[in-house]
Amino acid sequence: MKTSDEKTLREAVQGVDGEICWQEALSLHTTLRIGGPADVLVMPKDLKALARLVRQAREQNVPIFVMGGTNLLVRDGGIRGIVVKLSHFEKITDLNATQIDTEGGVLLSNLARHAMKRGLSGLEFAQGIPGTVGGAVVMNAGTREGEIADRLTAIRIVESDGTIRTVTRSEMEFGYRSSRIPKGVIVAAVFQLHPSSLPEIQRRMRVFIDRRKATQPLTLPNAGSIFKNPNGHFAAQLVEKVGLKGHRIGDAQVSERHANFIVNLGRATAKEVLQLIRLIGKRVEEQTGITLELELRIVGQDR
Ligand SMILES: Cc1cc2nc3c(=O)[nH]c(=O)nc-3n(C[C@H](O)[C@H](O)[C@H](O)COP(=O)(O)OP(=O)(O)OC[C@H]3O[C@@H](n4cnc5c(N)ncnc54)[C@H](O)[C@@H]3O)c2cc1C
Repeated sequence: MKTSDEKTLREAVQGVDGEICWQEALSLHTTLRIGGPADVLVMPKDLKALARLVRQAREQNVPIFVMGGTNLLVRDGGIRGIVVKLSHFEKITDLNATQIDTEGGVLLSNLARHAMKRGLSGLEFAQGIPGTVGGAVVMNAGTREGEIADRLTAIRIVESDGTIRTVTRSEMEFGYRSSRIPKGVIVAAVFQLHPSSLPEIQRRMRVFIDRRKATQPLTLPNAGSIFKNPNGHFAAQLVEKVGLKGHRIGDAQVSERHANFIVNLGRATAKEVLQLIRLIGKRVEEQTGITLELELRIVGQDR
């Protein structure tokens, strides 16, 4: 990533409507509560402001990173360039009886609740997955009950020259917690759902939420699953099998509740989390022959 000097950064954000926070600690914006500063964090007010920001950043050759913050480990040195949060992209629009158009910054749980209230089924699994619609599309977020790609029909992205383009489902490729999508900031997504009875949707959501509460360390800062489940295995079981459940490096700990979660006990650093991740990967590989693949996205630079 190119290091940008202050003058080019100022020119890149010049005249952009919205909050502009210099040297913002990203630990304030990640669910792990870890992460060094962004050179500048921008929350554009609307689409016009975002398009301007993206265009100016390209002209100044300043990198942009978009985040929701729930599946991320930001290294202790932070992120150079511009970090964007779509905090003002929160609108949900009903297109017709079964289609919903949602902006990229909408929280996935809010979208799931909106669908539920309209008696639309298909996103019950998303209740309880934190993060934004944009992040959920990139990650193809999901559970064993379903994933984002199942219901998605199109997205709108802002390309690097500031133009807005609609990308249809057939132009996107999805895999297990992965996607191949044209480059750009996802500013909206359209979902196709189907009618169902409200009590049935509520019942399903309750089951999923209760399961989360029973199995996940929801009272401590975390970033969800660290590793993808390897074919035919559960990452949590493998971590437990090699004796690392509860293992701690500094304030980073393999959760005692769910061994595929790492929790921040207070002042954990990204360095400690990374040491723990490396240790788990090495131990699981040595003892089981299985190579774990990260689900967590690691970004930024070391201190
Ligand atoms: C307690 C907990 C439980 C979780 N449970 C689940 C679960 O059951 N299933 C699951 O799949 N995940 C789960 N997660 C992980 C996480 O919530 C999801 O992956 C979520 O979809 C990430 O969304 P985000 O907005 O936070 O994106 P981030 O984590 O910030 O980013 C993920 C990637 O998306 C990119 N991105 C984000 N927004 C945009 C955008 N608008 N345009 C372009 N690129 C973008 C980022 O640059 C990054 O590469 C859980 C996390 C926590 C903390």
